[in-house]
Amino acid sequence: MPGVCDDGTRYADDNNAADNNEDKTDNDRLKGESGEIKVSKDKETKIGSDGNAEKERHYSDHGNPKYHTNPHDHDITWKDGKPSFGPLINYPNGAPPFK
Ligand SMILES: [Zn+2]
Repeated sequence: MPGVCDDGTRYADDNNAADNNEDKTDNDRLKGESGEIKVSKDKETKIGSDGNAEKERHYSDHGNPKYHTNPHDHDITWKDGKPSFGPLINYPNGAPPFK
């Protein structure tokens, strides 16, 4: 049974599953200028050359540190105008700069 993040988003319990339903309520941050990095409360979002977000860093373990490091990244792919969050990219030894 999937858990629920403190902001109401859901995540997959399986480390290999995509977090496709993360942060659906907050989609404004997923569009912008090429190369822009949008900073929100506990996230940074990198906008790709097509104006759509291409990756995102979450400064949260979503209440589930067993599967998420804080921070962790997700690649974002787009299909039919909708974002899809890729599998977790965890940084157990510390995250590189987000850019
Ligand atoms: Zn996440």
